[in-house]
Amino acid sequence: MSTTDQRVAIVTGAARGIGAATAVRLAAEGRAVAVLDLDEAACKETVEKITSAGGKAVAVGCDVSDSAQVESAVARVVDELGPPTVLVNNAGVLRDNLLFKMSDSDWDTVMNVHLRGAFLMSRACQKHMVDAGFGRIVNLSSSSALGNRGQVNYAAAKAGMQGFTKTLAKELGKFGITANSVAPGFIVTDMTAATAERVGMGFEEFQAAAASQIPVQRVGRPEDIANAIAFFSGEHAGFVSGQVLYVAGGPLN
Ligand code: NAP
Repeated sequence: MSTTDQRVAIVTGAARGIGAATAVRLAAEGRAVAVLDLDEAACKETVEKITSAGGKAVAVGCDVSDSAQVESAVARVVDELGPPTVLVNNAGVLRDNLLFKMSDSDWDTVMNVHLRGAFLMSRACQKHMVDAGFGRIVNLSSSSALGNRGQVNYAAAKAGMQGFTKTLAKELGKFGITANSVAPGFIVTDMTAATAERVGMGFEEFQAAAASQIPVQRVGRPEDIANAIAFFSGEHAGFVSGQVLYVAGGPLN
């Protein structure tokens, strides 16, 4: 591929955590990257990291659960970078609670950001991928898809991401588009820091407890997930589609 037809990637929730590491990784592999997050100003650090290393990136503010914002964000990416042919649906939130204490809004928020967000972003990007005869969609699931106490909303959404991925793979394969899912285990980010706080543990202590249960005896880093996403979104992964890869330092029950 010449530099004039550099692939354009959109990474949602890329202001921090796994999304930021993924944006940096995809840029290092030569993608022009739209660093998309709720707050455009919050994307600045990731964009600067990419541009200071010689890469190309723009910050895009967008709530992925809002249809109009998604349509205009994708149109902006087309204008400023070109048609997106790589999409990483990574934006995420937690609203943990036991079922009997979970509010309607805890349920709806989690469904809207993860599932509706991935749906709206994929629908807005697919036409550009179809036109290019090439596309890579990577959806973030979670080890919580297998069930996790206090996360009935999040577990349902993350299991839903797997069905969504497999269906995209079946519908879009004939256009040169693959769809895969990465399901992280425990990764050190603000999200797991918030969980530590919720259960009343210091973050260091929480990480040590998690690491002791993981076969490789450490917790994950955002870059561990970015590596898996880079594989699925790469030029040479065209025969790998509809898969779910657990990246959790060991097998899960
Ligand atoms: P994080 O540090 O909390 O980052 C998530 C990012 O998504 C934040 O920048 C957040 O913005 C953004 N976001 C939230 N709602 C959004 C919306 N409606 N539109 C656009 N952006 C939005 O989370 P992370 O740990 O990196 O997780 C990334 C993904 O991996 C999530 O899908 C998560 O469920 C999944 N995951 C994480 C782990 C883990 O151990 N960390 C494990 C399994 C799966 P604000 O800061 O403004 O809210």
